[in-house]
Amino acid sequence: MRIDILTLFPEMCESVLSESIIGRARKNELVEIHCRQIRDYTLDKHNRVDDTPYGGGMGMIMQVQPIYDCFMSLCEELGTKPHLIYMSPQGKTLDQQRVKELAQMDSVAILCGHYEGIDERVIEEIVDEEISIGDYVLTGGELPALVLADSITRMLPGVLAGTEAFTEESHYSSLLEYPQYTRPYEWHGRTVPDILISGHHGNIEKFRREKSLERTYHRRPDMLEKAELSKKDKVFLDALRQREEEDAAPGSNPDE
Ligand code: SAM
Repeated sequence: MRIDILTLFPEMCESVLSESIIGRARKNELVEIHCRQIRDYTLDKHNRVDDTPYGGGMGMIMQVQPIYDCFMSLCEELGTKPHLIYMSPQGKTLDQQRVKELAQMDSVAILCGHYEGIDERVIEEIVDEEISIGDYVLTGGELPALVLADSITRMLPGVLAGTEAFTEESHYSSLLEYPQYTRPYEWHGRTVPDILISGHHGNIEKFRREKSLERTYHRRPDMLEKAELSKKDKVFLDALRQREEEDAAPGSNPDE
């Protein structure tokens, strides 16, 4: 898969993209990620890429020409028009389902805004989709673009050790992941649940599934509506719900 990031700060992106799992995936040619400097395409003699907003108001707006020409040069290089995503706090909030779908594409381009944003006309002309990484505003689209590129890359075949590495992770199947532990066995008087050192794979799997269900029920009950639950899962959740309702009922004493 190929990902192209259109940005005014390619060095900022490169420094993240050359580290850790993404860096290794790029070296091993499991993903191709390129950053394109939008400023390289400006026709302004002072290299400007932004101007004041029509109608007045705060800040500067990125102009259509450098963005459009930058994207057109990418289309020319690829010989096709890639799916273009504009990172924007006004877009649809990113979730694991959309990440999975984007990871199936051959090529995705990501446009990063800056300053007060981008002239609306270029968004209308070339952008296929707007994605937000959450209901808050950042200075630029670079961090959101890196979040998107990272989340897509870990879904690509061969990037993580095995598919379980991500299928068991939080959100993949609309459940939060179970708690994890590593050595030492005891720390600050807290020990690892004994079942995890029992060597009994069936019991470990059951323990993890139940912890995952319990955690999702307590922290993100909304996710359970979308989760694929087996009969056993439903029985476990019903019992959990009933136990907690009984404990919360007036007159009940959970310590008894
Ligand atoms: N004036 C814009 C508004 O109110 O919608 C916000 C502009 S923001 C300061 C500058 C750029 O950061 C945006 O063009 C966008 O690319 C990026 N950005 C900021 N917050 C974001 C978010 N939550 N998700 C995705 N991109 C974001």
